This record gives sequence, C-alpha cells and structure tokens, in this order.
Amino acid sequence: CVAASASSSPATTTAAATEVLGIMKAWVYDAYGDASVLKLDEAVAVPPVADDQVLVKVVAAALNPVDAKRRAGKFQATDSPLPTVPGYDVAGVVVKVGSQVKGLKEGDEVYGMISEKPLEGPKQSGSLAEYTAVEEKLLALKPKGLDFAQAAGLPLAILTANEGLEKAGFSAGKSVLVLGGAGGVGSLAIQLAKQVYGASKVAATASTKKIELLKSLGADVAIDYTKENFEELPEKYDVVFDAVGQGDKAVKVVNEGGSVVVLTGAVSPPGFRFVVTSNGSTLEKLNPYLESGKVKPLVDPTGPFPFSQVVEAFSYLETGRATGKVVISPV
Ligand code: NDP
Repeated sequence: CVAASASSSPATTTAAATEVLGIMKAWVYDAYGDASVLKLDEAVAVPPVADDQVLVKVVAAALNPVDAKRRAGKFQATDSPLPTVPGYDVAGVVVKVGSQVKGLKEGDEVYGMISEKPLEGPKQSGSLAEYTAVEEKLLALKPKGLDFAQAAGLPLAILTANEGLEKAGFSAGKSVLVLGGAGGVGSLAIQLAKQVYGASKVAATASTKKIELLKSLGADVAIDYTKENFEELPEKYDVVFDAVGQGDKAVKVVNEGGSVVVLTGAVSPPGFRFVVTSNGSTLEKLNPYLESGKVKPLVDPTGPFPFSQVVEAFSYLETGRATGKVVISPV
C-alpha cells in the first residue's frame, strides 16, 4: 500500500511488490485538515498489486462521511501513514490480477469498498485515483443495469445498512425507525428493511423537502423532524437504526426487547455501535435486488462531480445535507 508522490518523493514499496506499474493522477493529502488539504497530484505511483488483489481502473468513486472524518484526523491512531489518497467506494474495471486471484479477470466490471476495516489501517492508496488495488474478496461484479456512478455510491452505505439491520436482529414482520432516512446509509436501510428483510413497517425521519423521497423509498411513515420530535410520538419500534447520532433519543422509542443500532455519536443501553466491515460476498448477495430494481441506488442530484471537483464534492458532503450519495464520475 503506497501513496507516495512520485514527483516529490520516491515511491516506497513493500518487499513483496516492487514492480513499478506507472504513474497516475490522484487526490492526495499529506496533512490532516479541512477539504483544502486535498491536492490533485498528476504523478502518484500506481499501487502495487498483491497476490490476492486486482488493480481496478477507477471509473467512478463515492465519498462518505468517514472520508471527511479521516481527513480531519479523527482516526489518526489507527490510520495508515500520510500521504493519503482517500476514498473507500469504487466502481471500475479490472486491469490486472494478482497470482492468487481465482474469480476475477481483466475486463470485469466490479464495485466494492476497498478497505476491509475502514478505521483500522485503511489503505493508503484509495479510490480517488485513476487506479486502486483491492483484495478480490472485497469486490463484486457490478450489478447489471446499473452504471458505474450508481454502483460506486453503493458499497460502504449498503454494507453498513445491511450489517446494521443484521446485527440488530432485524427480520420479517418487524418494524424499524430509520433516523436520517434521506442520507447515503438511511436511504438504503429503508429499502433493505422493506425489500430484503420483509419489514412490517418502516418509519424514517428527514426534513420537509425530503418527506416525499422517504415515501418513494418505501417508508410507510415519514416523520418531518422540523415539525415533530420522533421521541415524543406514541409509536415504538422493534429496531431503531440511527444514522444521525441521536442515540440518546433513539432508545426512547424502541420496544422492550428491541435493538437500537447507532452509527455515530453517543450510545446508551440497549443501543450499540459498530463499524462496517467490507465484504464482496455480501454485495454479491444483494446484487439480485439491485438488478431487479427492488433496491435502487440514490445518487445525489447535485452530482455526480467530475474528478476535477473532489474538493467541491467534499464541501457539499460536509454540509450534512446530501440526498443519497455524493458520487465522483467520471474519474
Ligand atoms: P450522509 O451525509 O449521506 O447524511 C446526510 C443526510 O442526513 C441528509 O439527507 C440529511 O437530511 C440527514 N440528516 C441530517 N440531520 C438529520 C436529522 N437530525 N434527522 C434526520 N435526518 C438528518 O451520511 P451517511 O448516511 O453516509 O452517514 C451517516 C452517519 O453515519 C455519518 O455520521 C457517518 O460517519 C456514519 N457512518 C458510520 C458507519 C459505521 O460503520 N459506523 C458507516 C457509515 C456511516 P436533511 O437534509 O433532511 O437533514
């Protein structure tokens, strides 16, 4: 894993992978900070490809709040060393395969989340680049019928929505309240709860302009948080899925014996927090729902942002007002 700028410093490589694959354009930061630390570098070393990895020509990438938090230095203790090429989400084409790769070949169109544990030693060379090296096990074939921009927005968010519902013990016939239903994760949590898990009832929160969107995603009940406090309403739920950071309020609306899964912020019992793990086979499992259109990617209509506008895209993401995914395409 190397993100050395070939123009300013020699590419340091691991002993196992010293083959020089060339030079690429990538967004890089060499100090933590706000979006202004990001620089477009035209001479970054293409990452080496380990035996269990493929090299992906990035066609589209997507931003996640974790990219911004990592860039701000919130995970310094467990981060990879600087300089960093950020980006977890990718959709692209396989252009090289490692010697142990069994299921993928050159030319395959793939998507995935490039680091298995986003906070524990994430890759130094991420997806906001022309090429990224990814373990085969973290990738799936791009769902038929979706374009690269749509596919790029899915991996981290849909894996989080799915893992959260799974860890909360969600199953057919249960009810769920999704806090933050219009965001990247929430828009998929609503759809998975309804279409994949067989929820009896899905409720979700958003601001006024996004209430119709929540219904179109499958929410039976759409709560406008600018008008009502969900924790003061009489309805209780078997699961509360908090994608906002309202763990203290979320626990007030869960049925006895139910679960409260919290993605960010404080948690109090029975709430619990987890960090998503990347996994290509879960994406493969979800592909039929994406291919049939039962579950639809939601690309924020302000984008997709071209590769030259990654700083603008981050600034937009960091308003906290994105509708679905902030996508970078074409790369
Ligand atoms: P987004 O940036 O996509 O979320 C933006 C959305 O949040 C907007 O549509 C906004 O709607 C909505 N929102 C903001 N405030 C509220 C509110 N008070 N009530 C209801 N909706 C609100 O973020 P993601 O969905 O990608 O991620 C959500 C959070 O989860 C982030 O903090 C992220 O870091 C974290 N996360 C954690 C993971 C983990 O593994 N633990 C994995 C993925 C994400 P509106 O404009 O209507 O307010």
